[in-house]
Amino acid sequence: MIDIDDFLAIQLEAWPMAKENFLKLDKVKTKCISTGDSSWVLAQCNPARIASTGAKVDAATLKARRCFLCADNRPAEQHRIDWNGYEILINPFPIFPRHFTIPAKNHAPQRISGRLEDMARLAAEMPGMVVFYNGPKCGASAPDHMHFQAGDAAFLPMFWQECEIEWVEEGIGVPKSGLPGYPGAIIVAGDNPAEVARRGEEVLALLPEDKESGEPMVNLLCTKRYGEWRLWIIPRKAHRPSFYGDGEGQMLLSPASVDLAGVYITPRLEDYRRIDAETIERTLAELCWTNKEIRQLLSQLPAKEKTVKVGLLSQDYVRVEFVGGYWHGSEIVEGTYNVAAEHLSKPMLFKPTDSSKCYAEVKDVTIGVNFHWQRKENQRFLGEICLMPEDGKITVINILPIEDYLASVISSEMSATSSLELLKAHAVISRSWLLAQIEARENQTHKSHCQGDVTEDKIIRWYGHTDHKLFDVCADDHCQRYQGITRQTTPYAQQAVDETRGEVLRYQGELCDARFSKCCGGVFEEYESCWENDHKPYLVARRDDVDENNYPDLCNEEEARRWILSSPEAFCNTHDAKVLKQVLVGYDQETQDFYRWRVEYTTEELSELIARRSGIDFGTILALEPVERGVSGRLIVLRIVGTKRTMEIGKELEIRRILSESHLYSSAFVVERTESGFCLHGAGWGHGVGLCQIGAAVMADKGYDYRQILSHYYPGSEITLINEK
Ligand SMILES: [Zn+2]
Ligand SMILES: [Zn+2]
Ligand SMILES: [Zn+2]
Repeated sequence: MIDIDDFLAIQLEAWPMAKENFLKLDKVKTKCISTGDSSWVLAQCNPARIASTGAKVDAATLKARRCFLCADNRPAEQHRIDWNGYEILINPFPIFPRHFTIPAKNHAPQRISGRLEDMARLAAEMPGMVVFYNGPKCGASAPDHMHFQAGDAAFLPMFWQECEIEWVEEGIGVPKSGLPGYPGAIIVAGDNPAEVARRGEEVLALLPEDKESGEPMVNLLCTKRYGEWRLWIIPRKAHRPSFYGDGEGQMLLSPASVDLAGVYITPRLEDYRRIDAETIERTLAELCWTNKEIRQLLSQLPAKEKTVKVGLLSQDYVRVEFVGGYWHGSEIVEGTYNVAAEHLSKPMLFKPTDSSKCYAEVKDVTIGVNFHWQRKENQRFLGEICLMPEDGKITVINILPIEDYLASVISSEMSATSSLELLKAHAVISRSWLLAQIEARENQTHKSHCQGDVTEDKIIRWYGHTDHKLFDVCADDHCQRYQGITRQTTPYAQQAVDETRGEVLRYQGELCDARFSKCCGGVFEEYESCWENDHKPYLVARRDDVDENNYPDLCNEEEARRWILSSPEAFCNTHDAKVLKQVLVGYDQETQDFYRWRVEYTTEELSELIARRSGIDFGTILALEPVERGVSGRLIVLRIVGTKRTMEIGKELEIRRILSESHLYSSAFVVERTESGFCLHGAGWGHGVGLCQIGAAVMADKGYDYRQILSHYYPGSEITLINEK
């Protein structure tokens, strides 16, 4: 931080003229003008300001004079502090008790474009000060040399008549009821300079441009208080009021940031005497926008890009390396952070200073939990990182735009060899699913992880997706596998996300719960067979083939047996290695028989397995009996008959969980008793609801486009954009 008081003291000792002007501030005539029930502004008579208020700023005048902000032309007594391409100088004709002029090092015109972040960072360097900018036609007395100014924030009534702010959207607001005596304004708030600058630029881009300068006419004021930046944008309609001048009935009033923030400076005593509430009202009406006009303008603001919060891991100890500079509060951090759970009492947020360069590497992330290939690796992430204390551990959350998240998810869930149309179909369903998770959290329509009906002789349960409290989705297979930018995004995945940007599936206006699994087995399952009894008209039975309505009644035991034991035509009935490689990434590829499969157990093996997986002692297993099947032939309820007890279990995932070390391919199976035990003959892989990944890969290979693929698997659905219903 810059020691401005020290600088000011030393400078005034060395420069008698400036010192005299600062001392004279005490004698400046000041009056208070009431502009409303409880609001007021100040007027000051400050003859030393004649040079500024009366400044001629036409091109010819500027050309003829020597620039007083260029280092070569400044008095020998003037000191400076160098700061990032700017020079901090005291203002020898002050208004504020502490008043600085901060010109750019080089002689370049007064333009704000690309300099908002500098402004915000200056505000952080000078606590208690307001850094302000007067546009070339909005009060700048040196429109030919880029400069900011800074003065005591508490000097300006606008900052201490705490006006209530109405937030139009996150981080952007307008003064609530409008403060009489003050101009219409836009307030951009944020907790780091880059974000404030980015949002500020968006607002400036909405304002009409002045042809001559190429930028909107504005006065800007920026403060940093209590860890928060606030940028006040005061749009202007005109440079000076119609009554500006030194003739009869005229006034030397040329408002800039200071005036509009409540201190009207008049160099001439007669103007000072005449200025009143009516003068202020007229000035504002001629020069500024009303809050109503500003509200209309803000309605055109581009919607903030939707972000997703992804839970990466939860551990006792977390190690993260920040590369490229991250905002942490108002500080920039880089390098490795080691945090132990017992030392984390509140959330820590890290925001990239430059999203095109920064990334965070989270060390020792466990991947493939409970799979044979479980291991630890370092993973890299774009976007923000938040460390949250939760249940005695640290939860690491990655916050990033949903389109970036999707490109990564599609890359890691799908093979690099996948066809574009298949990836596009996946991008749309991943986006739909993701948005549904985010909306569920926003609307707090949480379902508990595990639901169902458990009694003495029955366990019917299913597992919900929406059980995360601190974030929208996790990075595991439970939600969608996400590894940030650890592996390169494949070009097709990026293209698929770009070409379907913002597209989601809706059914009669409602977001589709776009489920998918590896292989349906020939007919799609219905939603209610796997989860709660909530019929979804777009998740229903259909033959996975050209002839969609040609399928038997698989709820019927005999029909199901015939179906499962045969190998009917279907898109997903394929052994085409080229197509399978698109869907079965890496570790999954060993699995070739998924359309029809078999698993054998001896009676001892099965009895031991069921006891261990269910935690229930059935004794020796005597029979596995189908009780109820869904439309794809998948078992919804299975009766397990043992020597010690008999129970019914469901739904499909519970059956698959109990009958295998990891998960049985599907619950669409028939049981054959063998000499040594049991043989399960099955069909399909996964729950079979919604899109069948292998079938979709075959469709894409046959030349169907992503719209045709989606309308096959989600009948009656429509592709719409996120923001339209
Ligand atoms: Zn200059
Ligand atoms: Zn999850
Ligand atoms: Zn299929």
